[in-house]
Amino acid sequence: MRENSWLSYTEEDDKNVEVLAQEYKEFLSKCKTERECTQYFIKEAESHGYQDLNKLIAQGNRLKAGDKVYFINRDKNIFLAVIGANPIADGFSVVGAHIDSPRLDLKPNPLYEDTSLAYLKTHYYGGIKKYQWVTIPLAIHGVIALKDGTNVEVRIGEEGDDTTFVITDLLPHMARKQMEKKLSEGIEGEDLNLLIGSIPFDDDKVNEKVKLNIMKILNEKYGIIEKDFISAELEIVPAFKANSIGFDRSMVGGYGQDDRVCAYTSLQAILETEKPEKTAICLLVDKEEIGSIGNTGMESRMFETFLGELLRLHKEDTDINVMNRCLALSRMLSADVDGAYDPIYASASEKRNASFFGMGVGLNKYTGARGKSGANDANAEYVASLRKLFDDNKVRFQISELGKVDEGGGGTIAYILANKGLNVIDCGTPVLSMHSPYEVSSKFDVYMSYKAYKVFFE
Ligand code: MN
Ligand code: MN
Repeated sequence: MRENSWLSYTEEDDKNVEVLAQEYKEFLSKCKTERECTQYFIKEAESHGYQDLNKLIAQGNRLKAGDKVYFINRDKNIFLAVIGANPIADGFSVVGAHIDSPRLDLKPNPLYEDTSLAYLKTHYYGGIKKYQWVTIPLAIHGVIALKDGTNVEVRIGEEGDDTTFVITDLLPHMARKQMEKKLSEGIEGEDLNLLIGSIPFDDDKVNEKVKLNIMKILNEKYGIIEKDFISAELEIVPAFKANSIGFDRSMVGGYGQDDRVCAYTSLQAILETEKPEKTAICLLVDKEEIGSIGNTGMESRMFETFLGELLRLHKEDTDINVMNRCLALSRMLSADVDGAYDPIYASASEKRNASFFGMGVGLNKYTGARGKSGANDANAEYVASLRKLFDDNKVRFQISELGKVDEGGGGTIAYILANKGLNVIDCGTPVLSMHSPYEVSSKFDVYMSYKAYKVFFE
């Protein structure tokens, strides 16, 4: 079952591998936050004939088979659907990915000055290795919401000769004590402070002249005052672009591939889905990296709200029992990345049950940790049905678990929908250096993920 599939693949399909990888890299370089992904996905959906569900509701329109709709939740979370030929209540097919990634968020009172240097304080978001975030170029993306109801968009550190930001580290010559610390304590959370300026404001009467000068620049550029940071969502992300990796250009390196690789490929898959039998749904959610909680995370009731509106507009019963039955008759691919086997860190994996580069999309029957605790454990019969689907459609796949027993483990949105009664399995792209500022994937596996989602919708 396990084999490197690059060479056994046909030339025609190889071309598709590279075309998809090129578009995927451009997407990764462009969209680094959940808001940017949502904006991008709206544009893509509209250009493929999708309509805003909220507009249809306002106009009192109905849905019929073949109709395509999208639903935006607070600019950070988007659901898409193609209405099937069968009643929605008979069950739907859903692929769900997340569009938030590990990063550093600004604290609500971020700005300070120390010894003629100005900084922004951060609180990290999701599981990061803190030492990976120092001495790399960083960009600021996000919004500042003003009291007058308008939003100021910020995206600095990306284009042309844009300025960038950095978190400093101690030089080795002076780091004897730091180097004796455990890796997890070498860089502390409260030291992840972003360096943002060093020129003082020309006024002898004020203290903190560098900080004042920064506020003057921000006021001129964005029209904001210091208090406006209170109502901002500013995210610090790596400033570099996505690239091909290797002499053979077989891999993609870039920030945020967990889980934008599955978000991108599942979106491409639904955009190409026309007139399915069962209604096809793509969920692109926020907050997975911090537990899927909150009104833009998978745990919120926004999905049921969306489903209820689909049923209502399709002239179907919206009774709670019908909804529950509909959920129980549905099936899902939880599209999230898998930690790929890394020969340099071989001891962390169990080789017979790891996923490997170039061997296709990875299935995880279960996640969880320490005795499968917290896992969605997919039913054998459901796994068998997917084996048949993928084999019949030449989708290369592998099945694995995340790391050794009692060493590895993790979670995705799978259990949340499984709790609602759906058949769910994790199905996504293996990634090296997962959760780092520069993750690596195999172009072949990216392509196979797309293909898996596509045949699942069809
Ligand atoms: Mn993920
Ligand atoms: Mn993750």
